[in-house]
Amino acid sequence: MRSISIFGATGSIGESTFDLIMRGGGPEAFRTVALTGARNINRLAEMARALRAEVAVTAHEDCLPALRAALAGTDTVCAAGQAALAEAADRPADWVMSAIVGAAGLVPGLRALRHGGTLALANKESLVTAGPLLMATAEQYGATLLPVDSEHSAVFQALAGEQKQAVERVIITASGGPFRQFSMEQMRAITPAQAVAHPNWSMGQRISIDSASMFNKALELIETREFFGFAPDQIEVIVHPQSIVHALIGFCDGGIMAHLGPADMRHAIGFALHWPRRGPVPVERLDLARLAALNFEAPDPARFPALRLARDVMALRGLSGAAFNAAKEIALDHFIAGDLAFLGMAEVVETTLARLSRENSLQIAATTLDDVLDMDHLARKTATEAVKSWQQGSKA
Ligand code: NAD
Ligand code: MG
Repeated sequence: MRSISIFGATGSIGESTFDLIMRGGGPEAFRTVALTGARNINRLAEMARALRAEVAVTAHEDCLPALRAALAGTDTVCAAGQAALAEAADRPADWVMSAIVGAAGLVPGLRALRHGGTLALANKESLVTAGPLLMATAEQYGATLLPVDSEHSAVFQALAGEQKQAVERVIITASGGPFRQFSMEQMRAITPAQAVAHPNWSMGQRISIDSASMFNKALELIETREFFGFAPDQIEVIVHPQSIVHALIGFCDGGIMAHLGPADMRHAIGFALHWPRRGPVPVERLDLARLAALNFEAPDPARFPALRLARDVMALRGLSGAAFNAAKEIALDHFIAGDLAFLGMAEVVETTLARLSRENSLQIAATTLDDVLDMDHLARKTATEAVKSWQQGSKA
């Protein structure tokens, strides 16, 4: 029986993974080692009961009594806190879904790779903050890293059986989000409620807002570079409002292989679950005649500066990805809290990168986890100061 763990089980990707596991036979077909969540204790307990999980972990220690109460009478061991998350990742499982949101997903993912199994990686932040470390750890322990981001799963699928040297360009698509046609003037007044409403995909709050600002696509540019090793100038972003084509690979003979599918993350998750074979996945089948048209347009660098910042990070590498992601997370926290404007997010990230670059903090090779975590910490501090300066400037 295949053993599995889901990190971030109660989130959007976690729920879709749970759905596929249940449809695939649930506890009769899979041995569930660990399920983790944060504050949604009732849902975490429900999933742990349904899959008869060996351990259920909440990220928050104050939630432990509630988790224990909800799982009373079961054999599931309950635990809480960051150390417990890492320990849950130390329990061997054949297939692990990494679907915690943010840099918090890095340590559990790294620890899970040490069993040499398969890590299905939805947590793109791990590749952005510590790409070389993650890839080297997978190699060292003979683990398989599979992309779960829809664009990266698409690239992976379009590359199957091809020679990497024959690839000229990799094109990842972006929906353009809810503000694709907003003027600069309109963009100045965007609220969190507007930004969270994605036109095509149903996702967690943070990635939905990142999609609206194109910070999500910025993270994905870096993710493409780190996962597949293509040079930055080979990787392109094209806006495609229908979100049907997820990525395209252009080869040296001019041919292009595209990957198409409905906007349902269960395709990419199911692909990773069945890999290296293909298995049935319950997503809607495309009706091309009904779709009728697929549109493409160039992204606007003036209204979406996140893409330019990602190009700087791809050129710098070192610890700049860790700084970029941490600054973005702080800026996003403040936008959600209502004390930073939508366009202020990119300003804060740019200021943070510039400050850290002037101090020569970014060009160090990111070889250890401690280097990455130290930079994460420093960049959060620097970004918090940048938010304060922005707030003072906006009042003046
Ligand atoms: P989400 O917010 O819906 O869920 C996040 C999960 O992480 C939840 O289980 C939550 O309890 C847990 N969590 C949150 N903070 C935590 C912390 N500090 N420590 C431990 N656990 C914590 O997010 P999501 O939309 O499912 O996204 C998860 C990851 O997958 C992100 O990295 C995102 O970029 C990536 N991703 C998501 C989608 C999507 O369609 N939702 C698509 C591609 C990639
Ligand atoms: Mg994506």
